[in-house]
Amino acid sequence: MRLVPGLRVLPRGDGEVQVGTDPRWAVRVDGLAPAEVEALLALNEHPLAPVPEALAGPLTDAGLTLAAGDTAGAAPPAEAATWPLLHAAPPARGAAVVAVMGLGPTGLTVVLALAAAGVGTLLLDDERLVTAADVGAGGYRWTDVGSPREAVAGRCVRDVAPTCLTDTAEEPDVLVVVDQGATDPGQALTLLGSGVPHLPVVLREADALVGPLVVPGSGPCLHCLDLHRADVDPAWPRVALALTTHRTAPAGEAAHLAAVAGGLAAAAVLTLLDGAPATGVSYEVPLPDVVPRTRRWAVHPHCGCTALVAVPAAAGPS
Ligand SMILES: [Zn+2]
Repeated sequence: MRLVPGLRVLPRGDGEVQVGTDPRWAVRVDGLAPAEVEALLALNEHPLAPVPEALAGPLTDAGLTLAAGDTAGAAPPAEAATWPLLHAAPPARGAAVVAVMGLGPTGLTVVLALAAAGVGTLLLDDERLVTAADVGAGGYRWTDVGSPREAVAGRCVRDVAPTCLTDTAEEPDVLVVVDQGATDPGQALTLLGSGVPHLPVVLREADALVGPLVVPGSGPCLHCLDLHRADVDPAWPRVALALTTHRTAPAGEAAHLAAVAGGLAAAAVLTLLDGAPATGVSYEVPLPDVVPRTRRWAVHPHCGCTALVAVPAAAGPS
């Protein structure tokens, strides 16, 4: 057996070492002879070396070892080294198709995070031109100003992940929609009807709303959110309509806000692709601190979006 890549072995004194630093899996091993302490600490310098057999038991019990021939973490994406600690089976993202509509700095951050995470196909949708306000940490350069965002974003994807495709006849597995002001209520219903899981990212004056990830038929949809908002503010439908029918020119997107909001959006997509989608959760990311505030949403009783799947199997037609 060898240690999962990336784990540190740390001396704690008195014949004791600690393996790992994350409280979710770090363990202490005590009662060790000085030579055993030395042998474990040597794994920091030689991570592929076998764990001394007499010491492998507690580390294997904690899920911190791999079989000697296991190649986990040896190939991209960079995070693959953590997969043995986080997933029962390695995620298979190479066959996934993700579409991203709206490719300002936040949308481009989502795209590049997904490309780097091993998503096989990314469909890019935004014919607007790169402006000076788009240039920054997200990936757009001064020389890109005036070129269509989707074309430049495609080049950025190839720079990060040369094998990632940006064209396919297949339907996307999930759609990310980056909008200004509010999500279009009509588009929200169309998305729900399409059956394709989708994630809204809404950019406002000085914050970004990420989520919730909508898996049609499971958990709240975007119409549920509008109904909840209208319960609190009866004028919300008119306000939302005004926001989505008279869109103003996109404001500049702060690079640090785009980084946090785009990262949260990419993580939500990956939870779905990795088989454990986090639905009903959204994040409000405000300037200036960009610390995400979590909000949890329930299905609205008047929406009906989950009615078809809410019927218990035993009560349905045979
Ligand atoms: Zn709903």
